[in-house]
Amino acid sequence: MKFSWRVLVLWTLPALVIGFFFWQGAFANTPADMGKNAASTRMTYGRFLEYLDNDRVAMVDLYEGGRTAIVEAVDPDLDNRVQRVRVDLPANAPELITKLKEKNVSFDAHPVRNDGAIWGLLGNLVFPILLITGLFLLFRRSSNLPGGPGQAMNFGKSRARFQMEAKTGVMFDDVAGIEEAKEELGEVVTFLKQPEKFTAVGARIPKGVLLVGPPGTGKTLLAKAIAGEAGVPFFSISGSEFVEMFVGVGASRVRDLFKKAKDNAPCIIFIDEIDAVGRQRGAGIGGGNDEREQTLNQLLTEMDGFEGNTGIIIIAATNRPDVLDAALLRPGRFDRQVIVDAPDIKGRLEILEVHARNKKLDKGVSLEAIARRTPGFTGADLANLLNEAAILTARRRKEGITLAEIDDAVDRVVAGMEGTPLVDSKSKRLIAYHEVGHALVGTLVKDHDPVQKVTLIPRGQAQGLTWFTPSEDQGLISRSQLKARISGALGGRAAEEVIFGRDEITTGAGNDLQQVTGMARQMVTRFGMSDLGPLSLESQQGEVFLGRDWTTRSEYSESIASRIDSQVREIVEEQYQATLQMMRDHRSLMDRLVDLLIEKETIDGDEFRQIVAEYAEVPEKPQYVPSL
Ligand code: ADP
Ligand code: MG
Ligand code: ZN
Repeated sequence: MKFSWRVLVLWTLPALVIGFFFWQGAFANTPADMGKNAASTRMTYGRFLEYLDNDRVAMVDLYEGGRTAIVEAVDPDLDNRVQRVRVDLPANAPELITKLKEKNVSFDAHPVRNDGAIWGLLGNLVFPILLITGLFLLFRRSSNLPGGPGQAMNFGKSRARFQMEAKTGVMFDDVAGIEEAKEELGEVVTFLKQPEKFTAVGARIPKGVLLVGPPGTGKTLLAKAIAGEAGVPFFSISGSEFVEMFVGVGASRVRDLFKKAKDNAPCIIFIDEIDAVGRQRGAGIGGGNDEREQTLNQLLTEMDGFEGNTGIIIIAATNRPDVLDAALLRPGRFDRQVIVDAPDIKGRLEILEVHARNKKLDKGVSLEAIARRTPGFTGADLANLLNEAAILTARRRKEGITLAEIDDAVDRVVAGMEGTPLVDSKSKRLIAYHEVGHALVGTLVKDHDPVQKVTLIPRGQAQGLTWFTPSEDQGLISRSQLKARISGALGGRAAEEVIFGRDEITTGAGNDLQQVTGMARQMVTRFGMSDLGPLSLESQQGEVFLGRDWTTRSEYSESIASRIDSQVREIVEEQYQATLQMMRDHRSLMDRLVDLLIEKETIDGDEFRQIVAEYAEVPEKPQYVPSL
């Protein structure tokens, strides 16, 4: 478009007029300084006084004749970050000034702006001036472009989103609990350091290694450790960053990345979430994604394009190897797969040792006990756990991390932040019965994991929680264990129904029921544990992915489908009736447990079992103690 003054004037004039009124309007209501200091969060006056008493206030600016204040406060919950908040002050708070003086807080009062002042006039000019320049620049820009979207041409180049670290600083020592993977990858380090060793005997150095495992198990860490041990640069990019809105960007990023890597060889290229680009071609919903295919093709071309011994090794990570395009896994590409799984108890202990290195632990804390308590935790969970514990310790002003902080941190990592308990009310009683229902099944049914504690302190989404001591590292699970779990998960709803009646049952059981249905369905379709016989009818729990598994859903006929449904219903119904009966049989025991729970907020497993034992026989549950 050609620049023309006429167009400019035509557009600016109305904008000027509108802008002027807005500008005036803005002045009429709030003082100008308030706008400048806009503090989006508010704090109540009471809390402000509390902060003041605790010496957390750094500075106070008073506005509107002392009716509003912008307060700079230090928030201990946010790493002592300085926050600007707005406080509405009561009309009569002369003692505030005395207090501010007494606490030595610097404060300042700002007068209300009067409109006719020179600033107002200047201000009135600023807006139009900004607007005109803005428009002017805009026109210049568009008229400069030589007939086409020149900008878009360079996207891939100008926004190369890979990172390069000359030295990762991570060593194999920092990675623990995944010994096999480390061993396999130790070889890669040798490839990088002494390629002659291999080429001399005619061995072809592998180009690509695929790390397969769930999130948080240390895949990225491991890749960095390889670079660290070999002392080579580390290039990384995430698969999702290849996939952009503009066709061709992904491919050009791949090109840039490999070019840069070749200039810096020997080095490591790390591609995280490779499944984002590497899904089977031509298989997505809607006939595949052109962009992704181009990117993948480019990646394959680049991998073929350099000789095995240029010293570039590509490491990719995924947790979905099954959806990857077969071409990626062919020899000469990612022909090595290394499994990086969640650690077992020994692995967890080692990971805890790594992360406890720079932390101060109290003498009473045994890492072994923590490792025992945390089956299913990944390396990232464990690192997070120790960090949370350290934060809690600092907040409680203790010298070193004690068991109490570890316990709280485990709860926090598993179930989220602690909330404030409800006051005693009908809904609190209902929640108490619900949780006691879960815990009672957990205690009375032999094949259920034992209760660790029951609590009414909310965490995350949950208003109350029943914790079970997990049986170590989920190995094989028997049919009766699954049935016990279903019954346990139904315990909450059953208690609600028996105590409060059918019409009073609540949405609180929603999550429980989801689990129940999931377990029952898997018993029927995956584990052959129903009257349908030993059939595997579904490969995995049917999540819809954009990859090839879209087509492999139902592997059975309509009639089987309806039999599956009725089997699932039968399993759940049988457990539910049994659970309801259990609740009816132990009505007075439940009343007593609920009263105690409401009074104490938390009952631990041993106390719970003792009380139950006064009313019923509590089956022995051999604690399986894994060896180290
Ligand atoms: P992934 O890439 O598999 O999702 P990461 O490598 O990003 O996992 O792990 C995140 C963090 O968790 C790491 O930075 C590290 O602090 C911790 N971590 C995970 N696995 C391990 C492990 N095996 N040993 C030590 N730390 C680990
Ligand atoms: Mg990662
Ligand atoms: Zn529940």
